[in-house]
Amino acid sequence: MHEYSLVEALIRRVEEEARSRRAVAIHGLKVSLGELAGVDPELFQTAFETFRQGTLCERTALEVVHYPARWVCPRCGKTFARGDILRCEPCGAPAQLTPQSDALLLDAIDMEIP
Ligand SMILES: [Zn+2]
Repeated sequence: MHEYSLVEALIRRVEEEARSRRAVAIHGLKVSLGELAGVDPELFQTAFETFRQGTLCERTALEVVHYPARWVCPRCGKTFARGDILRCEPCGAPAQLTPQSDALLLDAIDMEIP
């Protein structure tokens, strides 16, 4: 399961970050999850609850911000949703997928540094 390895990598990265700043606790994590990232949000949450046991993230609140798939015209900035024709008529330009649409990103770590 792909979600498990993603969560494992995420927790490892958060722990490294916390250790390098001598944090004693991690209160919260904020993650951006794009609709096209290929990650099941429920599985991701379950994986987090499984993997965090015995780590610095044991009592950490996980906030997942969901980004729907969106495309944007590189010339005029018009946005397109899933199911739209992905070409901007007035500009004649193909719409481009926004970076958040298919990404899983760690946005913020709320940690306690004594
Ligand atoms: Zn346009």
